[in-house]
Amino acid sequence: MTELSQERRLVTSIPGPKSQELMARKVAAVPSGVGVTLPVFVTRAGGGVLEDVDGNSLIDFGSGIAVTSVGNSAEAVVRRATAQLADFTHTCFMVTPYEGYVEVAEQLNELTPGDHEKRTALFNSGAEAVENAVKIARAYTKRTAVVVFDHGYHGRTNLTMALTAKNMPYKEGFGPFAPEVYRVPLAYGYRWLTGAENCAEEAAAQAIDMITKQVGAENVAAIVIEPIAGEGGFIEPAKGFLPKIVEFAKANGIVFVADEIQTGFCRTGQWFACEDEGIVPDLITTAKGIAGGLPLAAVTGRAEIMDAAHVGGLGGTYGGNPVACAAALGAIETMKELDLNARARRIEEVMKGRLLAMQEKLADSATVNIGEVRGRGGMIAVELVEPGTKNPNAAATAALAKACHAAGLVVLTCGTYGNVLRFLPPLVIGEDLLNEGLDIIEGAFARV
Ligand SMILES: *Cc1c(COP(=O)(O)O)cnc(C)c1O
Repeated sequence: MTELSQERRLVTSIPGPKSQELMARKVAAVPSGVGVTLPVFVTRAGGGVLEDVDGNSLIDFGSGIAVTSVGNSAEAVVRRATAQLADFTHTCFMVTPYEGYVEVAEQLNELTPGDHEKRTALFNSGAEAVENAVKIARAYTKRTAVVVFDHGYHGRTNLTMALTAKNMPYKEGFGPFAPEVYRVPLAYGYRWLTGAENCAEEAAAQAIDMITKQVGAENVAAIVIEPIAGEGGFIEPAKGFLPKIVEFAKANGIVFVADEIQTGFCRTGQWFACEDEGIVPDLITTAKGIAGGLPLAAVTGRAEIMDAAHVGGLGGTYGGNPVACAAALGAIETMKELDLNARARRIEEVMKGRLLAMQEKLADSATVNIGEVRGRGGMIAVELVEPGTKNPNAAATAALAKACHAAGLVVLTCGTYGNVLRFLPPLVIGEDLLNEGLDIIEGAFARV
């Protein structure tokens, strides 16, 4: 097979004729509930590009939603997973165990914040990890209530739909939802009514007031929060908010769970986004970037909490599949070897520099303003508003994403108001491709 060349190359319109044919088959064979952002069918991918069935090569600013941080088919991932495939594919860790699972657990216990004694349990998906974190917190505290935040996203299973804030498309028509879930305000500085400078203090006070007055702190098993709200719009809670929530949890015997499924594994320029404010969670959930694209997820946390569930209470047929574990060890090896934390910080520097310049240039645009440029590392977004206001501009966001797609750049949207354009490039992307992607975004802004 020829080397995948790291360049954007368009030989048909996007999507091309072969992709359109496959899309017709998809429509006939797959339920429409499984949506598609950009209907190009991929044949190969690696570094910073995706190649499609029509021979186009697209720049990837999505990483399959923050999954292929080490790049697609990264060398160490392929090498280790291939060797494991040839040795054995499955035994079920709960029946006859294997070393790879334990090795991944050891790595996670070492890499996650805090030097206390830890344990790690492995699962298949992010939602499953969050469900298990709640199970473990309930078993440990013997309490039932779970507190989550505005703009939070935690998955699509029944419990995690209940934990997720946004109705459309995640929850609409899929209820009733799991009980004993309570939602409190998040410190969203850009939209805080009394201003960003008051946000951390006021939002924390409101959240704590709601927990103590409406739920009762003594009934709360867990507080679950993303250190940067991902699907909710790449919202970084105002500095000082997270430490206040952690302090409250600690004072009240509540298990503090950091959902780092999107932010973990070098994505934000640190192993975990919690480190930014020195936060040491009791439990941390991970998935997405963990295994270079193979399905794997984990709950890592304090030994005494993790060991609270009775023998046989945790697990699943495929949890910690040996091939996925081998891939995870390859992904972690790649992150260390290439220092992907440093790469992520460089991506932030390049992207924010150019996006802030675009924000200034668009300041007197008649169609769209960039309200805020935010995020950390390789997790950067722009929130788009109507000119001279903070009114969310979802129409411009959709149009911009479409223009980028047509030009051969994969970008995603997000946000409670659908007005956030988000960028999650593979952390191994070359700087020329990164800049070419930003050129496309700039061109799209100029035309919208
Ligand atoms: C993606 C995501 C999940 C759900 O993970 P799945 O693997 O899709 O089940 C949960 N929490 C956060 C923060 C996520 O970004």
